Amino acid sequence: MLTAIVGINWGDEGKGRFVDLLSADYDIVCRYQGGNNAGHTVINSRGKFILNLLPSGILRPDVVNVMGNGMVIDAEHLWGEMGRLRAAGVEIGPQNLKISDRAILCMPCHKQQDILEEERLADRAYGSTRSGIAPVYGDKYMKKALRMGDLLNPGYCRKRLESLMEFKSLVAQGVYHREALSVEEMWGWVEQFALPLTEYICDTGRYLEEQIEEGKDVMFEAQLGALRDIDFGIYPYTSSSNTIAAYAPIGTGIPGRRLDCTVGIMKAYSTCVGEGPFTCELFGDKAEELREAGGEYGAKTGRPRRVGPFDVPASRYGVRMQGADMLALTKMDVLSYLKEIPVCAGYSIDGKVTGEFPVGDALNRAKPVWETLPGWHCDLSGCKSPADLPKAALDYILYLEKQVGCPIRYVSFGPEREQYLEMK
Ligand code: GDP
Repeated sequence: MLTAIVGINWGDEGKGRFVDLLSADYDIVCRYQGGNNAGHTVINSRGKFILNLLPSGILRPDVVNVMGNGMVIDAEHLWGEMGRLRAAGVEIGPQNLKISDRAILCMPCHKQQDILEEERLADRAYGSTRSGIAPVYGDKYMKKALRMGDLLNPGYCRKRLESLMEFKSLVAQGVYHREALSVEEMWGWVEQFALPLTEYICDTGRYLEEQIEEGKDVMFEAQLGALRDIDFGIYPYTSSSNTIAAYAPIGTGIPGRRLDCTVGIMKAYSTCVGEGPFTCELFGDKAEELREAGGEYGAKTGRPRRVGPFDVPASRYGVRMQGADMLALTKMDVLSYLKEIPVCAGYSIDGKVTGEFPVGDALNRAKPVWETLPGWHCDLSGCKSPADLPKAALDYILYLEKQVGCPIRYVSFGPEREQYLEMK
């Protein structure tokens, strides 16, 4: 069984907790794109963990975790993350962590370029997490990056680095008026943080093929949501990678394989980190109330997230782009404080109402068309099955299901592993 767990919205939907929950039935969990700009929060009996690079399956001792070729990996950050988890008693070794030899190494020069570019853009900045993700993906496509497999031959790696630093120095000097980069400094970083990773590096595509042939079940864990996909998201306010489920087999080295199931994680309301059009956005006291109720501050950056009611056109589009077979609706409990629940049911663009999610500048002109649904206004934590749900909560779930055109299989009403119910 090949299953992808992906975000329907702008990210931060609560994917990490569902990967943690559902990975109990899987042998392998893979990340297939992105880098340490992700911030997946998992809370279980061992404590609270924020994972940026490591797949969420790392918290289950019998699960093998794969960091796929579609990823960009900051080696220094990875050691920090492994150190924090080990300190909490999580075992990590080549037996349960495999890094693709085709994944790209994210280096300090990428981080520096990210920061310089956001500073250059000033009030036009993209709202990057400043982890170097856009520059390193840019270099990947310019064919000016190091791959993890290069580390297996230090002599070759050093030569490649020298030639890459020549280019990076020209960019630093010419575009940002900074000093040339030091090859020795960058090689020192590679020796300290990247070369010690070699025991984890392998051909993960071949490994996955073998495991799938043996009948092993594989889960693919996405970072961010459909609306941040580089091709199908709100460009240029996207991430620099493909966040959609269809990329999962490509980003892990098994491009000929098809997914058996895609589970879309969809939030009961909307949040967005960073810049770009966000049609359903709330402002002032209403926004503050929702932000507080949902604890909507970035897991990685601590930045307050932009918040708004559920957005039907955006979520329906997200479901379609992900090809979701079923959905998990998260954070229902957060809306319990509301007597009435507003929903952005459509967009008005230049006076025309539409349910379609537009591309390009039309999205900047979209105005929300509101509908109001009754709230349940009570604590949902005792609900163990759909029959326990107050009518208004059940109606809200059925309304969303109908609007986005995909069955909602799970509903969560708290961050902990068991705080969910199955709609059957
Ligand atoms: P991810 O990037 O999609 O994994 O999402 P994040 O981890 O950034 O954000 C999800 C946040 O919501 C985390 O703090 C989770 O612990 C929390 N969370 C997940 N599901 C629920 C839920 O059903 N209710 C509440 N209150 N919090 C949740």
